[in-house]
Amino acid sequence: MCGPNSTLGENVYIASSEAHMGYRFVQCSRCGEIYAISISNETYMDSSCLDELSCATCRCRLAESLHDYPEQYLKKDGTIGLLDIYSIDIDDEHSVLRDFYQLL
Ligand SMILES: [Zn+2]
Repeated sequence: MCGPNSTLGENVYIASSEAHMGYRFVQCSRCGEIYAISISNETYMDSSCLDELSCATCRCRLAESLHDYPEQYLKKDGTIGLLDIYSIDIDDEHSVLRDFYQLL
């Protein structure tokens, strides 16, 4: 799985409910890389297993750089934006298929 830093252009990905497939998303607040976390794996694994992982793109420690996504997202200017995902209509016209790194 791989993905470019497309959120740096402030394209924010929102998964449709059927596309969630039991995953939630987090983002590296330094470079904008997006990761998927299996909710069932997260439930049964100690979150300290993230401590040793570094970002695939910028190599920073993920334990210190992750935030929930897309409710929070990295903006072009390097600050964190807030998004009310329930205020957005998801339409097929702008839908894309994209792979993400999976952390857990
Ligand atoms: Zn990063």
